[in-house]
Amino acid sequence: MSSFFINTFGCQANKSDSERIAGDYFARGYMEAKSWQECDELVINTCAVRQRAEDRARGFLYNVTEYFKQSPRQQPKIIFTGCMTHHGNQKLLEMMPEIDEILPVNEVGFNQAAIRKDKKHAWIPISTGCNSFCTYCIVPYSRGREKSRSYEEIIQEVQVLVDQGYEEITLLGQNVNSWGLEKVSIGFRKLMMRDEDFTRKDLPENQSGYLKPKGIPPFVKLLQDISKFKQIKLIRFMTSNPWDFHDELIVEIGQNKKIDRYVHLPAQSGSNQVLYRMNRGYTRESYLEVVRKLRQADPKIILGTDIIVGFPGETDAEFQETVTLAKEVGWTVGFVAMYSPRPGTASWKIYEDDIPHKIKKERWEILDQIINKDNLQIRPKVV
Ligand code: SF4
Repeated sequence: MSSFFINTFGCQANKSDSERIAGDYFARGYMEAKSWQECDELVINTCAVRQRAEDRARGFLYNVTEYFKQSPRQQPKIIFTGCMTHHGNQKLLEMMPEIDEILPVNEVGFNQAAIRKDKKHAWIPISTGCNSFCTYCIVPYSRGREKSRSYEEIIQEVQVLVDQGYEEITLLGQNVNSWGLEKVSIGFRKLMMRDEDFTRKDLPENQSGYLKPKGIPPFVKLLQDISKFKQIKLIRFMTSNPWDFHDELIVEIGQNKKIDRYVHLPAQSGSNQVLYRMNRGYTRESYLEVVRKLRQADPKIILGTDIIVGFPGETDAEFQETVTLAKEVGWTVGFVAMYSPRPGTASWKIYEDDIPHKIKKERWEILDQIINKDNLQIRPKVV
């Protein structure tokens, strides 16, 4: 029997994709090898969020090929997937001729039954891709336009999980709030794909790729319906975007105690100027408003965030606005990253990566200290 092994880099979306890739292998009669040294097919599921993430995947590939130069065993077939596929097949094969096959990440799909190792908690993808086009982000290029999975398919998967004894689920999407609201055809696709330079003013507003909900947003309805499964005890979701964190969602979180009290709400920056350059579609004030409403809905809610320091043009004063936002909100956890330009993104085309690494590092340390180390002194804080 042939065997496969999957090495996964990056976020939960990749881990969830890997569960489905494994499902596809099992369906085709493969078994899972104990290690990459022993498999016939090796899938490398990559992350491209920062250059370092890409370097890690390339380093792993290097180690694999070096290992098999010395080994009596034949090198496995190497299949590359994940966000690094945004480079395109030709460029990837030029960079890494050792790759045998490229599996476009948007072809992983929702349909393969996931093979899960955890027997209590399950990840359920509810959408792929993104229409938001934050200027620094590679996702709309690597994973394509946003596509919601159907209500029926999601509920059916929850039913299967309940039948298998699962009690906790996490709904996954690049922006779960917009589930069921993406515009199918969006005019800026061509704009973002053209080769010539464009300016910040050419960029679509974050909201332009979505429909406005009429009544209860579909995602809130989905949460309500999943909560009706008695056996489901805990529902988490990630990630939410602050610009469309609807009031109805806040009310639902406040009332529905099956929903986790931890809310991940990426702020990225506390400066309106930086948020504008990032094309995030909200302001510091509107972010704080969502925080205030969430804490009003339930004071037990705790918040986490993602922050990028050293975004192009970030002045000391703009960085200090992120520092004051951190102190004001009192996030429990913060994933702080130093800006790294991703080729093909709008920020890579429009802005110069002009903040020296030393300054980025200093800013990273300041925020990491405040959010992740000092936060016990700051909390609890009701905005
Ligand atoms: S919301 Fe922005 S940061 Fe998140 S995946 Fe979409 S484009 Fe990327």
